[in-house]
Amino acid sequence: MCHFQACIIGARTKRILHVNVKNKYCVVCQRSEHSREHKCFRNWNKTSTSMEAAIISEGFQESIKKYNLIYGRLIGDGDSSVYKRITESAPYGPTFVVEKIECRNHLLRNYLNKIADIGKDTKLPILFRKKVTNSDVLGRFRNAVTKAIQYRTEHATQINNSMHTKAELLRKDIINGPRHIFGDHSNCEDYFCSKSEEVSGLCIIIS
Ligand SMILES: [Zn+2]
Ligand SMILES: [Zn+2]
Repeated sequence: MCHFQACIIGARTKRILHVNVKNKYCVVCQRSEHSREHKCFRNWNKTSTSMEAAIISEGFQESIKKYNLIYGRLIGDGDSSVYKRITESAPYGPTFVVEKIECRNHLLRNYLNKIADIGKDTKLPILFRKKVTNSDVLGRFRNAVTKAIQYRTEHATQINNSMHTKAELLRKDIINGPRHIFGDHSNCEDYFCSKSEEVSGLCIIIS
């Protein structure tokens, strides 16, 4: 990717707080061998993956000056490079830790992309790959996670589980999702399924 755009949006206000674009290439620089004087759009010469992290981190650095605000919590995707960059740059001094909240939509997107990747991996037998390439099955993967998140969130307010326990139980549910989808209900929680759904017929060959 030769240009990258990223922005920070306030979770409550839905207002754009910071936006920037990084360009790796400039049309004029590309076309002319002798660089004539021009308004150059190239403002990035490092790797593309660091562009997003740089833009977001800049926004955090400016937040006090621009809005007199501390961005205390970051709702972000599973990509850890952005959060890592923010922690390293310590925009509010070394003792203030910006908290990270995982976004369910990003989590699901990453999860389903990884499963779709398995479907494209030609090292695996086509018969098995087909099991995860249709949208019905991908939808079931999505539902399993959504259901677990919903239950663990609502249930958590009824019983007095600590945040750590809640996260641990949710983690177990998410890992169990694929087993449930392919018919192994031995580890399914009662809330999760009635354990009588028909087996989808996937044989797992262990060699
Ligand atoms: Zn240029
Ligand atoms: Zn089940």
